[in-house]
Amino acid sequence: MNAKVLIIEDELELGELVQLYLSKDGIDSDIAVSAESGFDFLSKNGYDLITLDINLPGMDGFEFLQKLRQKSDLPVIILSAREGDEDIVLGLGLGADEFVNKPFAPKVLVARIRAVLRRVRSDMDKPFSKNIFFGSFSLSPEGYHLEKNGERIILSTKEFEVLRFLVQNSGIPFSPDDIYQAVWGQEFGDISTVAVYIQRIRRKLENDPSNPEYILTIHGRGYIFDEGKIKDES
Ligand code: CA
Repeated sequence: MNAKVLIIEDELELGELVQLYLSKDGIDSDIAVSAESGFDFLSKNGYDLITLDINLPGMDGFEFLQKLRQKSDLPVIILSAREGDEDIVLGLGLGADEFVNKPFAPKVLVARIRAVLRRVRSDMDKPFSKNIFFGSFSLSPEGYHLEKNGERIILSTKEFEVLRFLVQNSGIPFSPDDIYQAVWGQEFGDISTVAVYIQRIRRKLENDPSNPEYILTIHGRGYIFDEGKIKDES
């Protein structure tokens, strides 16, 4: 696969091991040993994906991701040795695309990287279907593109997929379970992830996220996209 990956990892040996496995797969990579040098690499080269360690000297991985997401929707796979769901929820909330626990088998990581790259690329290859308009927004379902008054709004892949699911099924209430299954495609998972994503999407979409106009909470049932706001392109 022709791709370039930025490995942000302060344990150089581990970074080099990942680099070795990626190169066996024909994937080119650079290693940044801190978040700060990660931004340096990003300013000089183009990358298709980032693998991000969380425990880093100086700026940590979460802070890096938060800064990155202000300007880029580059796919990010978080590699973390930390235990605990809060880390995963925080990472996904900040817009990570995948989460891999350390220690990991390099082959497994490479497979995940390939899967994310394939997903991103097949999304780009899909013919653009009709845009959906609501309020001052325009959403391109297959193009993974959301604009407000013609300005691009950066969403992570999963944020977009949650929003798209709700918009395409506007007027229908969905439980967090329904949304999780529709977007993550698994029967079992951390359902609290859905609420984190809804919050994030609201922050990007709503004028007042605490008093949403588009994605409404139906107490005890879940979420609904307000049908009244939607109109199809004619
Ligand atoms: Ca580390």
